[in-house]
Amino acid sequence: MARSDDCVFCEIIAGERDATVLHESSEYLCFLDKYPVTEGHALVVPKEHVRYLEATDGSAFFAFLQEAHAEVKQRSDPDATNIGCNNGQAAGQTVPHCHWHIIPRYDGDMADPTGGVRGVIPEKRTYGE
Ligand code: AMP
Ligand code: ZN
Repeated sequence: MARSDDCVFCEIIAGERDATVLHESSEYLCFLDKYPVTEGHALVVPKEHVRYLEATDGSAFFAFLQEAHAEVKQRSDPDATNIGCNNGQAAGQTVPHCHWHIIPRYDGDMADPTGGVRGVIPEKRTYGE
């Protein structure tokens, strides 16, 4: 399986760096984010080092994402979740190994959660006439 020598997620996948694993298959891994946005924030990665979502097997990756999402919900019992992928540097990707974020959300964890992932451009988070 292809790996990159300069990738923290490849190190986690190889067991060379600590992480709390929540769910695993032969092809995919879900582990807790080291710098969580909320309690239970998890990342879902293909074990093969690819940078972009379009280089992954969409149906298999999504099936695993759903399993990992169920695990996150069971573990953290959130009121809702945000699921997102920063797909490329201009979208904010900092680790160049494709990953989904699963971010548990809790009632009252911010004053006004309206718009959710629209907040990637903060001034466009809400919409209307
Ligand atoms: P992104 O900015 O979308 O590429 O997300 C990278 C994520 O990786 C961030 O949420 C970081 O908190 C997380 N992260 C960075 N280093 C580690 C690590 N060693 N273990 C777990 N998560 C990490
Ligand atoms: Zn990697």
